[in-house]
Amino acid sequence: MPDFLHQATILVKGARLFAFEKIIRQLQQQSHSTVLEIDLEALVHNLNFFRSLLLPQTRLMVMVKAFAYGSGLNEVARLLQFHRVDYLAVAYADEGLQLRQGGIQLPILVLNPGEESWDKMFAEKLEPEIYSFRLLAQFQQAWLTFGASFPPPAIHLKIDTGMRRLGFLPEEVPALIAQLKPLLAQGVKIASVFTHLAGADEDRHEAYSRQQLALFEQAAQALAQGLGVSFLRHALNSPGIVRFPEAQMEMVRLGIGLYGIEANEKRQSQLRPVGTLKTYISQIKTLLPGQTVGYGRWGKSEGPTRIATLAIGYADGFSRQLSRGRGQVWIQGQAAAVIGNVCMDMTMVDLGDIPAQEGDEAIIFSPTHPIQDLARRLDTIPYEILTSVSERVRRVFFMP
Ligand SMILES: *Cc1c(COP(=O)(O)O)cnc(C)c1O
Repeated sequence: MPDFLHQATILVKGARLFAFEKIIRQLQQQSHSTVLEIDLEALVHNLNFFRSLLLPQTRLMVMVKAFAYGSGLNEVARLLQFHRVDYLAVAYADEGLQLRQGGIQLPILVLNPGEESWDKMFAEKLEPEIYSFRLLAQFQQAWLTFGASFPPPAIHLKIDTGMRRLGFLPEEVPALIAQLKPLLAQGVKIASVFTHLAGADEDRHEAYSRQQLALFEQAAQALAQGLGVSFLRHALNSPGIVRFPEAQMEMVRLGIGLYGIEANEKRQSQLRPVGTLKTYISQIKTLLPGQTVGYGRWGKSEGPTRIATLAIGYADGFSRQLSRGRGQVWIQGQAAAVIGNVCMDMTMVDLGDIPAQEGDEAIIFSPTHPIQDLARRLDTIPYEILTSVSERVRRVFFMP
């Protein structure tokens, strides 16, 4: 492989006719690396599916925090910019700066603005979420200090209606109005007011969600009246978009749905999984009965057994919890269970009767081997698995 492709992100693009996946396969085989393949066509399909649930006037913010849910921040953002979403959101200012460096011009909300990054945020037009009086005072101080050099910033106000994470409580709204008035007089704009639902993905929380939505609408109305300004209001995450189409207000916030995961599991069949995590077999061994495998010798061969050593470990995001048979991978379409403990960079699996060879690929999850199954084995949610795929795992983007 040429030097410039080392550690590079590769976008392979072309008409179906040319069967470019063969090139991808070849690239991977040459590099013998663990890769997370991102199907950009599936991603756009999911984007369009969620758009089809929106009223024509509803705006769309896409959450690209945590490296775009592990899928590649700038690559995903560029595609979203091309497809004209209205807003992006990141967790930290650094992620926003990375987007600006990557040429992203969309408005960007920063959910958790740091204490030291205000000047950079003003310079790059990153729009902070303001969730407390302490943060508002910091923002005000920073605006006094740096404000002369920049156009007035836009801010977003978070109301805590029951998530109990970040946000002003509804009863704090009158005090908030009083604090905001002088800032508005100086040109600061309120781009949006929003809240976050604690249980949008489950039937059993439906009444609670509706109560959150009602509290939010009251708080937003009080702010609009008290300040005499208008702003966008938004409350729905991906499962909320599916469950509460009547509560879109002026904008919604799409996250996990973009990657083909429908957290309610109501519309899963209409989405297309986007990611495939795969590795390859470094070595195959045949064990005699009673021989042990790996650290702590927890794996034990029952009869003569073929095992494969895979080039993926917990440092890549293949959790150590998958040790000792809890996890499995797919080789030539068949399941091979983890034997012994997962190591930092490698994992051994029992091949059983699979006629695998060294160099063959092993699938961790893919559209046919859903990430949801892996999540259940790990007693977690797909969000955690996606965002745990370490940055040393190369992302390969393709459009089939
Ligand atoms: C992450 C996040 C979202 C997106 O949630 P999904 O369940 O991934 O759609 C929406 N709003 C806020 C405030 C978030 O932090």
